[in-house]
Amino acid sequence: MHRTYENDDIAVFWDSEKCRHAHKCVEGSPKAFSPMRRPWIDLGEADTAEVWQAIDECPSGALSCVYKHDIRVEYDESNCRSVAYDGESRIRECDFQETPDGCVIYHTEVRPAYGNKGIAKRLVYKIVEEAERQKKAIIPTCSYAAKILG
Ligand code: SF4
Repeated sequence: MHRTYENDDIAVFWDSEKCRHAHKCVEGSPKAFSPMRRPWIDLGEADTAEVWQAIDECPSGALSCVYKHDIRVEYDESNCRSVAYDGESRIRECDFQETPDGCVIYHTEVRPAYGNKGIAKRLVYKIVEEAERQKKAIIPTCSYAAKILG
């Protein structure tokens, strides 16, 4: 299972298949990470620096995070894509296709001016989360999506 959790500053990614339950995250930021709660990650009351530090301690790579840089990411189901916006300007997108075998993620557009900000990862996660909620298989043919999900 893949999930994204956000506050105004950061987006936190969690990949449940990598999680080894060493609980470094819970010790590092108990307000953000609590296995007794659903959802178990809640950034609302947590300090961003503390969350970042806790994620650095995760031994498995199940957790990662990026600064959002005021970039908004939305799921656009009718056009089979997720889209990133800087203000009203569309700056990136990730495209998928529904097939009988599942959700095929076949293209992630990367504009160099917005590189190294984790935007493509947010775009891929946005599609994957929705596909997982709909219990669809995910088939990443885009090399970037495959790398993220590998
Ligand atoms: S520190 Fe990482 S591996 Fe441990 S419980 Fe948290 S997410 Fe899972």
